Amino acid sequence: MVKMPSITSTIAMMLICMCSCQPKQQSRESLTDPPPNRPELNEEWITIDYVMGRFDPATHTDFVLIDTSDADRSGLYLRKDAYAAFRQMSDAAAAQGHKMIIRSATRNFDYQKGIWERKWKGETTLEGGMKASDISDPVLRAKKILLYSSMPGTSRHHWGTDIDINSFNNDYFKSGQGGALYRWMQENASSYGFCQPYTDKSNGRTGYEEERWHWSFKTISDPLTQYCKLNLKNEMITGFEGSETAVEVNMMDNYVLGIDHQCRN
Ligand SMILES: [Zn+2]
Repeated sequence: MVKMPSITSTIAMMLICMCSCQPKQQSRESLTDPPPNRPELNEEWITIDYVMGRFDPATHTDFVLIDTSDADRSGLYLRKDAYAAFRQMSDAAAAQGHKMIIRSATRNFDYQKGIWERKWKGETTLEGGMKASDISDPVLRAKKILLYSSMPGTSRHHWGTDIDINSFNNDYFKSGQGGALYRWMQENASSYGFCQPYTDKSNGRTGYEEERWHWSFKTISDPLTQYCKLNLKNEMITGFEGSETAVEVNMMDNYVLGIDHQCRN
């Protein structure tokens, strides 16, 4: 759910990735498998470590490197099933004149910890240019960061099912090319298994602000959401600066489960 609010932080993230990610060649053949069935909650790959992003997508056999023709840089990963579905959706969109570029995909716990702690310590500014570190109350500080960024261990980007496309700016999706793409997505994304978790809050949804760029491969992410609802507790969200606020902000009910109804079965 992280949004890169400033050009500076966007460039910083891109530089980090360019320096640390080792692209691999990926055969398209492995992406032509039939659509996946909805996984069962007791499947052995669905674990607390998995949903909290405690793994490396670069070495996980269910993950695949995203082709640079689909992304704004090399070194991004998705689950194979999610990427195959994305490619089908992207091809269909392209046939209607819409271009989709993945700006962010899988981010594991350590990656998200870096994003969160840079904001927590004021090394990265928040939307509007303020520093979270100027907020002395830790709960208020966490809530400010949580407008757009998730705590490590709670991001849907951990799962390999969620992507950010084209622009980290809702206004981009309100007119012109972005507006046309967003309307196409609203009408067609569900046909390919995708949904928008962070819609506007007019229906009473809690949690992160609206993100028109964030889309989720519901076929896999909905069972993962249900697993989290049953097994992930606020007290388990630890291992980074400010994690002591997870209980008070009620990360699980307000954020992890604060998604649009279209992303739930
Ligand atoms: Zn996102």
